[in-house]
Amino acid sequence: MQNPPSDYDAKRVAHWREVLRANGYRITPTREAVLRALSAGNYALEATEIFERARRFAPHLGLVTVYRTLDAMLSLGLVERVHCTGQCSLYVAAEEGHHHILVCRKCRRVWHFSGDDLTNLMNDVANESGFVIEDHWLQLVGLCPECRDS
Ligand SMILES: [Zn+2]
Ligand SMILES: [Zn+2]
Repeated sequence: MQNPPSDYDAKRVAHWREVLRANGYRITPTREAVLRALSAGNYALEATEIFERARRFAPHLGLVTVYRTLDAMLSLGLVERVHCTGQCSLYVAAEEGHHHILVCRKCRRVWHFSGDDLTNLMNDVANESGFVIEDHWLQLVGLCPECRDS
């Protein structure tokens, strides 16, 4: 895993605070710590990794608060799950609007891209299966340029 960031993204945290408050969530110091931990860099993190990072901002934080804050943020679309093999769940700060994910399996950095040339594929699948396709998620996994060359 990459080194924990020394700082956090104050602008992103301010936006998250605003959305959470507008939806009836109180911003406690421990919740604030989780927001800060998630805000720096676009890395797919396990809940325990978020916990470790967030403890630097609130040493008495509990893991339960991490899960509850993640649940709230997932339901508000502020955070999204990144697929991984096995049982683990990874989380990354979400981007607004429809987009897809590119994730490096080594450093777990996440890039978002919006290009959508899936229409033909989806039309073919819809025609063959008789499905009405309403939504899709696309995550591409591989090695980023830095990890590919190291
Ligand atoms: Zn990488
Ligand atoms: Zn798409």
